[in-house]
Amino acid sequence: MRLILLGAPGAGKGTQAEMLTKLYDIPCISTGNIFREHISKNTELGQKAKAYMDEGKLVPDSLVIELVKSRITQDDCKNGMIFDGFPRTIPQAEALDVMLKELNIPIDFVVNVEVADELIIERMAGRTVCPSCGASYHKVNKPSKVSGKCDLCSADLIQREDDKAETVKKRLDVYHEQTEPLIEYYRGQGKLVDVDGVGAVEEVRDRVKTALGVK
Ligand code: AMP
Repeated sequence: MRLILLGAPGAGKGTQAEMLTKLYDIPCISTGNIFREHISKNTELGQKAKAYMDEGKLVPDSLVIELVKSRITQDDCKNGMIFDGFPRTIPQAEALDVMLKELNIPIDFVVNVEVADELIIERMAGRTVCPSCGASYHKVNKPSKVSGKCDLCSADLIQREDDKAETVKKRLDVYHEQTEPLIEYYRGQGKLVDVDGVGAVEEVRDRVKTALGVK
């Protein structure tokens, strides 16, 4: 199974990706998480990406495409993969089409998780992440068992720099301008399924499963 999760930042793609990765036993490729890992290790790529990310801008296509190219040819992707946060621009989608064509592995579905901007702004205000393992939480919708601590590795949870209100608004503008056109791109390929992303995590999960034809 090869899936793309499409949707605005904060629409809940990461949470649904965690569920789908277990369901299909395939890796999730989150370009945002990969960049954050590079930033925490202070690599050259991390330093380049951080400047864009902190401002709520997209990292240039060339950097993202190279990263994905080397990731999808790794062994754990041979039974499929879930893309979370990639592609984010038409050139990225076109580059992905070329890469997958060369590997002879088409995308099966593109799940478009729909949530209105106002709700996203509200949601992001409560979102926290684990700086150590990347797990994400929400103060109201998905609280950790011990307040402020990661369930998986007990590290102190933090708010992402780019989840702060001003940056969120900027990221939503960038989404509408550069990523939203992908909805029609994949609808045109007959691969798009729309899912209402408003509601409890489990409700959205059930809608995603139904859209993918999973019992
Ligand atoms: P995310 O965790 O997916 O919301 O990504 C966080 C930030 O990483 C984004 O706001 C971008 O700055 C950068 N980023 C992640 N994925 C991409 C991508 N596919 N193209 C460009 N920038 C990206």
